[in-house]
Amino acid sequence: MVNVAIDGPAGAGKSTIAKAAAKRLGYIYVDTGALYRAIALHAVRNNVLNDNAKLEKILENTSVSLAFDESGSQCVLLNGEDVSSLIRTPEISMGASKVSGVPAVRAFLLALQRDIAKNNNVIMDGRDIGSVVLPDADVKIFLTASPQCRAERRYKEHIEKGDKVTFEEVLADVNKRDYQDSHREIAPMKPCEDSVMADTTGNTLDESVEMIIKIIKGE
Ligand code: C5P
Repeated sequence: MVNVAIDGPAGAGKSTIAKAAAKRLGYIYVDTGALYRAIALHAVRNNVLNDNAKLEKILENTSVSLAFDESGSQCVLLNGEDVSSLIRTPEISMGASKVSGVPAVRAFLLALQRDIAKNNNVIMDGRDIGSVVLPDADVKIFLTASPQCRAERRYKEHIEKGDKVTFEEVLADVNKRDYQDSHREIAPMKPCEDSVMADTTGNTLDESVEMIIKIIKGE
């Protein structure tokens, strides 16, 4: 199986670029952020977002899984419920960043991610895929872009969905999440020694996809 790990900060374009590259290569695209988002939604619903002990307890009766349709699109299931669209809100983005610092949450999601990679050619994106989830990945890419550029992309996505947010709020969220994700004690976001660095600032989507495919093919 071919395993490609793509890590990097929020808004670098990981999901859009990885999805398009996976489609071209015939691989499955796995968005691991969706798993942390599903746990955040579960925590919010159960009022345990600020109580790690209680969160850990409810994980005992929680199931999170991913399903892929024929086009390779991913759905995330929380106790069997498709929550794919409910997890794309600013509140859940911040909640995901919070729960992702809880060791029990990371441990809970690890086996699921490794199982998918064991049985499929995958491009898996996240924060710790190259460092923790798939340390033996065939290719590791750390995808970045300037904070301003990443916030602009996120802002555009929110406006297209009709969310009421200001650019300043989105930029502040991007900076806060970067800080939280790269400073947490467990599995902090950082490039691996063997990561190929890819900066998408100012690129069109096609240019970034080309760049990633070239790296994967070793060209
Ligand atoms: O990639 P996305 O923005 O959907 O991820 C949401 C949050 O989940 C991130 O800010 C990060 O805290 C967490 N995450 C993680 N490890 C991953 C994927 C996501 O900690 N592999």
